[in-house]
Amino acid sequence: MLIDQIQYHNKNGRGKYLPAAEYSFVQQVDGRGVYSFCMCPGGFVVPAASGPHQLVVNGMSPSNRGTKWSNSGMVVELRPEDLLLPDLQLQACETIQGSAEAQTEELIARSGKLPEGSVHTLAVMHFQEKLEQLCWQQGNMRQTAPAQRMADFINRKVSYDLPDTSYSLGLVSSPLHFWMPKFISSRLSRGFQLFGKSSHGFLTNEAVMIAVETRTSAPIRIVRDNETLQHVTVEGLFPCGEGAGYAGGIVSAGIDGERCADAVAAYLQRG
Ligand SMILES: Cc1cc2nc3c(=O)[nH]c(=O)nc-3n(C[C@H](O)[C@H](O)[C@H](O)COP(=O)(O)OP(=O)(O)OC[C@H]3O[C@@H](n4cnc5c(N)ncnc54)[C@H](O)[C@@H]3O)c2cc1C
Repeated sequence: MLIDQIQYHNKNGRGKYLPAAEYSFVQQVDGRGVYSFCMCPGGFVVPAASGPHQLVVNGMSPSNRGTKWSNSGMVVELRPEDLLLPDLQLQACETIQGSAEAQTEELIARSGKLPEGSVHTLAVMHFQEKLEQLCWQQGNMRQTAPAQRMADFINRKVSYDLPDTSYSLGLVSSPLHFWMPKFISSRLSRGFQLFGKSSHGFLTNEAVMIAVETRTSAPIRIVRDNETLQHVTVEGLFPCGEGAGYAGGIVSAGIDGERCADAVAAYLQRG
């Protein structure tokens, strides 16, 4: 309702005939992109963890886009070298034996010490897993998602209560400004303030932030040749789409899929 009011400039929202309104925001904050991702008008926030000890959320809309809610991922761009910064350190969270996060830690340890100032190939994946585990801990070690009202987040205040939500497993009030790495929380906070300036009414305590949407793009990339799109050492293997690190979202995955299909056809014709 709120987004319909803002976007249609009408206090009665979208009315009977108009579709649920959409939005798209993008800003640069301290050298990194902060942007809305996969905005879902008239949709839900859903659980999207793929293993134990993780809390991950995502957003989706049914075809009629008929719910009273809108949701969007809010992304802070991260580069491997950022992991060396103290601002990206996570609050201590206990590594749980057998978790994906523990297994990655083991792989990293096995491949030995890295030269000063460099990051391990799997370091960003490790960071993602740690953040998901931390989020699960903040959500009372269940799938109840930690959440905070948007203006409270900016003012660094705990939310006393939370608005009604589309996330069916429930929310728990949590100081996201406190436990998220400062690198991310400070950019999100600044980004929201800039979005609020360009879209009057967007920055409001009626909006709720739900942690954490970490799966917007792959944290690693399987390296391929720019021309042939084949793996650099395994002939006939075409790393493709989101999992291989060449897409983030439906459209970019579709486009990459088409490029790879053309490359496979050319390879087969040559052979
Ligand atoms: C809940 C949810 C909501 C989303 N909402 C949006 C949105 O609003 N907008 C947007 O742009 N993006 C959204 N996304 C992301 C989008 O779905 C992905 O970016 C996109 O599907 C990636 O496409 P892909 O082809 O690279 O991978 P996928 O669609 O994941 O396809 C990979 C395929 O490989 C198959 N596979 C895996 N392993 C094997 C194997 N060993 N052998 C054979 N097959 C295998 C899988 O079954 C799967 O079918 C959402 C994702 C989720 C989970």
